[in-house]
Amino acid sequence: MTEPTLFELSSPGRTGVTFPEADVPRFELPDSSLLRDDLPLPELAEVDVVRHYMALSRYNYSVDGGFYPLGSCTMKYNPKINEDTCRLPGFLYTHPLQPIETVQGNLMLMYQLQEWLKEISGFAAVTLQPAAGAHGEFTGVLMMRAYHKARGDHRRVKMLVPDSAHGTNPASAGMLGMTVKVIPSDARGNVDLEALKAECDDTVVGLMLTNPNTLGLFDEHIQEVVRLIHECGGLMYGDGANLNALLGIVRPGDLGFDVMHFNLHKTFSVPHGGGGPGSGPVGVSARLADFLPAPQVGILEPAEGDTPPLYGFVTPKHSIGRMKAFHGHFGGGLVRAYTYIAMHGAEGLRDVSQYAVLNANYLAARLRGTYKIPYDRVCMHEFVMEGRIEGSDVRALDISKRLMDYNFHPPTNYFPLIVHEALMIEPTETENKDTLDRFADALLKIAEEARTNPDVVKSAPHSTPFGRMDEVKAARELVLCCWLPEGYDSNR
Ligand SMILES: *Cc1c(COP(=O)(O)O)cnc(C)c1O
Repeated sequence: MTEPTLFELSSPGRTGVTFPEADVPRFELPDSSLLRDDLPLPELAEVDVVRHYMALSRYNYSVDGGFYPLGSCTMKYNPKINEDTCRLPGFLYTHPLQPIETVQGNLMLMYQLQEWLKEISGFAAVTLQPAAGAHGEFTGVLMMRAYHKARGDHRRVKMLVPDSAHGTNPASAGMLGMTVKVIPSDARGNVDLEALKAECDDTVVGLMLTNPNTLGLFDEHIQEVVRLIHECGGLMYGDGANLNALLGIVRPGDLGFDVMHFNLHKTFSVPHGGGGPGSGPVGVSARLADFLPAPQVGILEPAEGDTPPLYGFVTPKHSIGRMKAFHGHFGGGLVRAYTYIAMHGAEGLRDVSQYAVLNANYLAARLRGTYKIPYDRVCMHEFVMEGRIEGSDVRALDISKRLMDYNFHPPTNYFPLIVHEALMIEPTETENKDTLDRFADALLKIAEEARTNPDVVKSAPHSTPFGRMDEVKAARELVLCCWLPEGYDSNR
């Protein structure tokens, strides 16, 4: 093993701590045998700690540092005003167990956010509890099951999921013991209607559909799909991860979806990628509203004259119960998303989607002749191309690694599964044309390298602190602390 250099900086006697004056009287501890003499904490000066974390932060790629076209993840720029609002003392220092009279502002924000999400999506009611998209899916599927059971319909055990779906969709249904049936896509990337019809019967819980789907394509038969599912007594689940394509243009509730999760950390600029916290509210149509998780923020006493309404918690009649400790990710998720919506307004949100779609189509147009786009029609906010070049054996993974040398975050790789060597590219609305052009130029350059100098692509990245990882070895021999390679210069 090589000598650790970055994580063992401790030197006996160094210190960076100055304790404040005690503001309570001193007491001798009654039983000193309970105390340790020795505590193996690192001994460092303040400047050592600051440099250590600064060095680590520079190894990290972030949306504040550069373009991050990770398809399906909507890595848009997160406006810094969100950080101001979520740190306002009234939001930051409240406790979820405080009496409701003392947190009316927080409850009003949650209520208003529910109302806005309803207006954006066309649903009748919204819960803010779920902690992420996958958690929202689980919540939604629980409500679908509760709905069927409440009608005495116990035969429904089959969840339909298209082959382009995100893995969390079958996982959510599978966790509830349902049988997952995969529905193939047709040649234009839509749900294959014949295959769907063949599965529609009285055992169908519903269909979990992402629209636009993970190919970035709006299903051309969406109304027919919804009709088929409803006709056989099933419910339509909408995976709202791709809502960034639809704001102010199409409302999933109006299309006939019964339930959908929002990913506030995608569409509504809550930071993600570093592990959260995410936020995955769920909207439902009127017939599912009574099944929403409890508690739900509601108005206990309506406004009267100059007296504002009293906000508090209500329990839907057939609630599936609690999905999350307290009330969801309030400060980190809900306040930031509220700020984002308030700053944009209805027209601003429509602009968001229109620019997101324009940017994706612009990139597709620049790359089309060089890279194959297998389901090639006007895309929504993202598109999927093949990471293969005529006359070269480089793979999508190589292209992604090489993009890092051009200082771009790679696109999503090898997803959706129905495209060979998939590279899924989502530029988002927050990038300007210069950035899009630099990115397209880099991909065109890499295609040229793949033909003329494939080794430079296949051995990339060359400019990052660490070179090409052995991903199989990393998975088999998991080492969860960091050793730097011998001779590595931590000051570069
Ligand atoms: C991101 C994503 C999910 C899961 O959402 P999380 O918030 O990451 O749990 C589900 N479906 C699709 C299509 C996604 O892109």
